[in-house]
Amino acid sequence: MKLRKKIIAGNWKMNKTISDAQELAASIKLELAECREVDVVLCPSFTALKTVSDTISDSSIKLGAQNMHWEPDGAYTGEISASMLRDLYCHYVILGHSERRTYFGETDAIVSHKVKAALAANLLPIVCVGESLEEREAGRTEEVIQTQVENSLTGLAAELKRVIVAYEPIWAIGTGRTATPEMAQDVHAFIRRVLTGLSDAETAETVRIQYGGSMKPANAAELLAKPDIDGGLIGGAALDARSFVEIVRHGM
Ligand code: PEP
Repeated sequence: MKLRKKIIAGNWKMNKTISDAQELAASIKLELAECREVDVVLCPSFTALKTVSDTISDSSIKLGAQNMHWEPDGAYTGEISASMLRDLYCHYVILGHSERRTYFGETDAIVSHKVKAALAANLLPIVCVGESLEEREAGRTEEVIQTQVENSLTGLAAELKRVIVAYEPIWAIGTGRTATPEMAQDVHAFIRRVLTGLSDAETAETVRIQYGGSMKPANAAELLAKPDIDGGLIGGAALDARSFVEIVRHGM
């Protein structure tokens, strides 16, 4: 048996009305309802969670959210808690996406609070890390990634096994520029070494590390063949059922 089952998640971002989301989820389900070789996760916007949840309920496809607040309830206007997501049968939640870090001021400390709250509510966090082009060109990729991983995933001990890390170089997100499989593999192997430092080698070997950044049918096979690339977090290509399904098939 493979040590790590691949996980392919579609991050639909702020796209799709409820009816569009229902249609996309139904098209994906037609092809992947029985998929057991890969964990397939759909992450629609909050408004479409209920509809997509109902659409995929009789399949092996799982639901994820794109964000959450770390407090269980209270006066946090506009926010959504982990238990509210569990209520909708969410299994996963994306945390610390670079768009949240860049546009909404999310820091590693905030991400760390959210990761702990998600795990406590039995949601599996997909924790995003990644360097900017400027940081890569300055030779700072490892330093930036190490800081993000250590500070976002501090104090988890054995719980680390339930976390999914997504390596998403910011310069590759939505730009059509993909990290080469070798570049991505190097960073994934580095992340696993950082995870070993946070826990132990056995735990780090079980953590799944997804690649994200312009992954599409044409480049997915090569990326997913690398030993430390355990899946993908897909943005643009996840908005089209055929390309998303094709990427999943490359992971089988
Ligand atoms: C993302 O934002 O998580 C992402 C990987 O986007 P894209 O696939 O469009 O680059």
